[in-house]
Amino acid sequence: MRKILVAGNWKMNNDVEASLKLTENLKELSKEFDQNVDVIICPPFVSLYSVKQALNGTSIKIGAQNMHFEDRGAYTGEISPLMLKELGVEYVIIGHSERRQYFNETDETVNKKLKSALKYGLKPILCVGETLEQRESGIEKQTVKNQIVKAFEDIDLSDAEKMVVAYEPIWAIGTGKTATSQQANDMAAFIRLAIADTYDRELSEKITILYGGSVKLDNANEILSQSDIDGALVGGASLKAVEFSEIINYSK
Ligand code: PEP
Repeated sequence: MRKILVAGNWKMNNDVEASLKLTENLKELSKEFDQNVDVIICPPFVSLYSVKQALNGTSIKIGAQNMHFEDRGAYTGEISPLMLKELGVEYVIIGHSERRQYFNETDETVNKKLKSALKYGLKPILCVGETLEQRESGIEKQTVKNQIVKAFEDIDLSDAEKMVVAYEPIWAIGTGKTATSQQANDMAAFIRLAIADTYDRELSEKITILYGGSVKLDNANEILSQSDIDGALVGGASLKAVEFSEIINYSK
């Protein structure tokens, strides 16, 4: 059975002091976290070290929001997977739609980043999802399938097993609009099919698929109870310790 995973993407919010405050609040609340849910928080790069130290002794894991695919070199302003590993980072979000939209992330760079993250033992959270225009034109599945096929290109089965996929319809991110639980579950099931086509059925049944897009306390239960959805990637609501904890405890 797949375990539920709830990941918080803090985006470009919280300086080090605010990151530590939020972490302390979460640590306190984590005593009551549902033990069947894996929890990850993804602070900005500058807070990773302090937050990782503060999380010692808890079951909350830490992820980065992005990385470069090279391990070192003349890439001003970039962060390498080795630097993340040194800090004890376990997960890394790859291909978030905000990076695709504002920072020229392409399916090709996503694929390179996935390979590099896996090479260095980081577990990628691969984000895929369609725009509103693509959904309204009826090409949402084709769009997501293309993203999946290109992302997984030349990745071995043994590495693919370590990945998490987050279905995040772009029109639902930070907009307050959520996909219906039916739309979210349909796409998660479709992603499993695409993965079964690329690899095999066993992997498609094992792989963790999250939904992301305005997940909040009031919709978490319905979305996370869907058969093909194994958790959530949470943006805005992960910045509030109590709301994020209540999402984690959605089934309590
Ligand atoms: C996200 O950042 O991946 C996200 C889903 O954001 P929000 O929950 O704010 O829509």
